[in-house]
Amino acid sequence: MSTCIFCRVVAGDMPASIVYRDDDVVAFHDIAPQAPTHILVVPVRHIASVAELGDDERDLAGRLITTAAHIAAQAGLQTGFRLVINTGRQGGQSVDHLHVHILGGRQMKWPPG
Ligand code: 5GP
Ligand code: ZN
Repeated sequence: MSTCIFCRVVAGDMPASIVYRDDDVVAFHDIAPQAPTHILVVPVRHIASVAELGDDERDLAGRLITTAAHIAAQAGLQTGFRLVINTGRQGGQSVDHLHVHILGGRQMKWPPG
């Protein structure tokens, strides 16, 4: 069994509230939501971070963003939302499986913390 939490979610070995799944991308609710809507979009295949994405993965990278936008629309975030990809320790990444955060349902602030 994989030691990566998100690989386990994708495989169904770890319970999660899944909102979308296809052959390449899975989306599920964050376990510790930081906004009224907080959903994570991940590739099915383990990729540690955006820093590990190769040129041959441009299509997948695009799919993560477009899927996130569709999910945000389905979640009713018509007035706006934020996509976040924390990368590396200083970037605030705590799970080393690439994921796009969809945050919405409250006013976002800038600059982020
Ligand atoms: P990061 O800090 O790497 O950008 O984001 C990791 C996110 O994964 C955090 O928001 C955290 O709450 C979430 N998370 C960590 N473990 C689990 C889990 O087992 N299930 C779910 N659904 N989310 C998790
Ligand atoms: Zn993984």
